[in-house]
Amino acid sequence: MSGVTLRGVRKSYGGLEVIKGVDLDIAPREFVVFVGPSGCGKSTLLRMIAGLEEISGGELQIGGTRMNEVDPSARGIAMVFQTYALYPHMTVRENMGFALRFAGLSKAEIDKQVMEAARVLELEPLLDRKPKALSGGQRQRVAIGRAIVRHPQVFLFDEPLSNLDAELRVHMRIEIARLHKKLNATIIYVTHDQVEAMTLADKIVVLRAGVVEQVGSPLTLYDDPDNLFVAGFIGSPK
Ligand code: ADP
Ligand code: MG
Repeated sequence: MSGVTLRGVRKSYGGLEVIKGVDLDIAPREFVVFVGPSGCGKSTLLRMIAGLEEISGGELQIGGTRMNEVDPSARGIAMVFQTYALYPHMTVRENMGFALRFAGLSKAEIDKQVMEAARVLELEPLLDRKPKALSGGQRQRVAIGRAIVRHPQVFLFDEPLSNLDAELRVHMRIEIARLHKKLNATIIYVTHDQVEAMTLADKIVVLRAGVVEQVGSPLTLYDDPDNLFVAGFIGSPK
């Protein structure tokens, strides 16, 4: 599994700088959670790591290799979004295998990888259903399944649970924690839910207006926030 390193990473849209020199070291297999107010740059950072946005300055490394100019499909990453648009006319099996059809795999190989992912996510009984016959949580599991079949080194999650109701969110949070253990993967996870951040993260990155305010374990940020902003987000005020 690969780690992810950011060195002085910047992003500007037109004249406006929205990511202002971010340094981060994410170890292989680490579960890192980005938190911060709406508009602080969480999605932009993820999208740059995924290769969906160009990096304006600095360097991104995945597994020790510079990735700034590398095609998204060759970065060894998979991203799960908040809106998990599944193909409505395809079964769960077809949805999960779809991306693999373009990776030059045989039908037997695709079937094998889909079955493996379905087992991990306990989706086997649902493989022949269409999305409209699934609950919200089941659909989100299929969306995660589509990422797993590609055997990425790094998983990127952008607020994957925020469209689910409270009860399902708790259930899926536990599933994601279990998945992290099973897959032994590096995960970068964006949320605005404090409880999600505290329970899932090995390490929390607090962002504010394109700058990293503090990085630390949930306990460190809770017990020893560097400033009132971090305290307001995570901790108990000093
Ligand atoms: P978050 O995910 O933390 O809510 P974003 O990464 O989506 O924040 O956005 C960070 C900042 O960048 C915001 O000010 C947003 O308006 C701006 N931004 C994001 N995408 C674009 C874009 N394509 N063009 C111009 N500005 C953008
Ligand atoms: Mg966002």
